[in-house]
Order: sequence, then C-alpha cells, then structure tokens
Amino acid sequence: MNPRYPDRVRIAHLPTPIEPLTRLTKYLGGPQLFMKRDDQTGLAGGGNKTRKLEFLIADALAQGCDHVITTGAPQSNHCRQTAAAAAHFGLGCSLVLRGREPAAVTGNILLDRLLGAHLYWCGDQTCSAATADVAAELKAMGRKPYIIPLGGSNVVGATSYVLAMEELMTQLAAEQLNIDFIVFASSSGGTQAGLVLGARAYGFRGQLLGISVDHDAQSLQTQVAALATATATHLGMGTLSVADQVAVNDDYLGGGYAVLGETEIEAIRLMAQFEGILLDPVYTGRAMGGLIDLIRWGAFSRGHKVLFWHTGGMPALFAYADKLAN
Ligand SMILES: *Cc1c(COP(=O)(O)O)cnc(C)c1O
Repeated sequence: MNPRYPDRVRIAHLPTPIEPLTRLTKYLGGPQLFMKRDDQTGLAGGGNKTRKLEFLIADALAQGCDHVITTGAPQSNHCRQTAAAAAHFGLGCSLVLRGREPAAVTGNILLDRLLGAHLYWCGDQTCSAATADVAAELKAMGRKPYIIPLGGSNVVGATSYVLAMEELMTQLAAEQLNIDFIVFASSSGGTQAGLVLGARAYGFRGQLLGISVDHDAQSLQTQVAALATATATHLGMGTLSVADQVAVNDDYLGGGYAVLGETEIEAIRLMAQFEGILLDPVYTGRAMGGLIDLIRWGAFSRGHKVLFWHTGGMPALFAYADKLAN
C-alpha cells in the first residue's frame, strides 16, 4: 500500500541534487560514484535532520507545543538543526547534551548558541533523566514542550526518508540513471529505516548499505528493522517486515563514536581535494572511509553505480581542527 504522509512544514531545500563524483571515481578506478547532497538541505548548515524536522515540527505545532527539547552528543548536528528549525517557527528550544561542557565553544555548539537554544549538560546524569527534568521544569513554568528523541529517529522523523526515497526515484527516472548501491552513515537508524521502507514502497531495485557509526551490526539492524515496521504502520502501509533488506556494516567503528581516525581523515581529504565537497568527522567521514575501503577490497565491479547519500555534518569539522589541520 502507498504511504499516506502526515502534514509537514517546508524548511528543506528540496529536491537535493545528485552529482557525479567524476574525479574521485577516476582516482579509485571505479565503481561510478554519485552523491545525493542532503548536506545541502539549507537549514543553518543543512543535513539529514532537516527532512526529519519537517515532520517533527509539524507534529509539535499540531499539538500546540511552544517549545522543543532534544538530546545528543556535544557536536550533535541534529541538535543544531533542531535549534534552527525552532528559531524559524518561533519555538523555544532546549538541548540536552551528553557529558560536561567542553572548554572550547566551537562547531555545532557555537551554532546552537547563536541560534538561541538553551544548553543543558548531562554530566553524570543519563540524558533521558535530564530530558525529563527539563520537560518538567518547562511545564511548571506553563510551557508546552515537545520532546524529539535522539537523532529525531521515531516514526515521525523516519517518515521523511520514505519520502526522500520517492524524491530520489523521481530524479533517477528523469536522469535515466540506474543505481546499484546506496551507501550512507547510520547511527540512530531513522534515515536507514525510512530509506529501506521507501525502497520497498517505490520499487528501488538496488541495495542499501548502512555503515554503522557507533553500534554493532546486529543491534543496529534490529533497531532499524523495528523502526521501519513501526513507520509502515504509521503511514498506513499495513504490517510489513523489511528486516531482510536492512544491511549494516560495522567494520569501521574504529576508536568508537566521534573518534577521528586515519580512515576518516583520508576520506575527508580525498573528498575535499578531488571534489571540493566537505564531509564531516563523525558520520560521513566514517561512512565514506568505509566505502573507499570496500572499493579497494573489490566489493564492487567497475561498472557498478554507487550513490553515497551525504547526510551533512560539516560544522563539526571545526571541533577537530587540531587533528585535521596538517
Ligand atoms: C544524525 C546523522 C547521521 C545518522 O542518521 P541517523 O538517522 O541517526 O541514522 C548521519 N550523518 C550525519 C551528518 C548526522 O548528523
């Protein structure tokens, strides 16, 4: 059954372009590489969370909420885009960030502040406990908070990537382009759940591969499959399981979440210097590093067409200046 989409607000610049990565393809000796530019969604630096926020903010407004609360790592791109979306609609915004406040105000943290968000540092508390505290305080002050989960990865947020798959299929048809593989960074799972469901709904024939940024393959696969099934129900598509289409590679976890290693540094430099495109240190640097490694291992043939879905994150580069500068 076709998805029935709930209302959304319009904040993303869509459709995002698809571009061939000609020089990088030549350097690597194939496969033919393309990029879907969701780093160019337009909202205060852009990224994949902008699409999710179109549905999440619409839901918050429909419920009459006047404040959004979300959570993430200190350099969370999701938190920065949430702060921007909240500002755009005149909503208050509280960001509950993991750990303690770093000494340097840089990257996404700087942007969060410029965008007028209230920042809370979890310290030794779990972020879910801190989020509940912030929500209770706001309610006591007579506000109506709307809580967005980590990465915006619930059925409301994942819906946007079902729709993004329709957008991609329309572009591929218009350009008569057949993509064999779609590769992207996967973390809280909303992007992958939406894409997998969209692939099913719109008849995408190729394969999708999520490069895990922080979870072992088994747990991310389980999480994505469950979210995809719940999202199908949310969109009136009936009960369907896409578990066998959720492919996750966890070979590139390196030193752990947000730890920049040689794989990420090389991918960031290659993309910058062959294509003039900036990846990010945490997600797309890792996923592209994984894709390059898979290419070198011969996972694809020369004629395959591989689309890398750029999910954004560029502002976080500045928080890693010491490791990237030389
Ligand atoms: C959040 C994020 C991802 C991961 O998306 P999920 O939907 O959480 O899996 C990938 N890349 C960037 C830049 C992100 O900010």
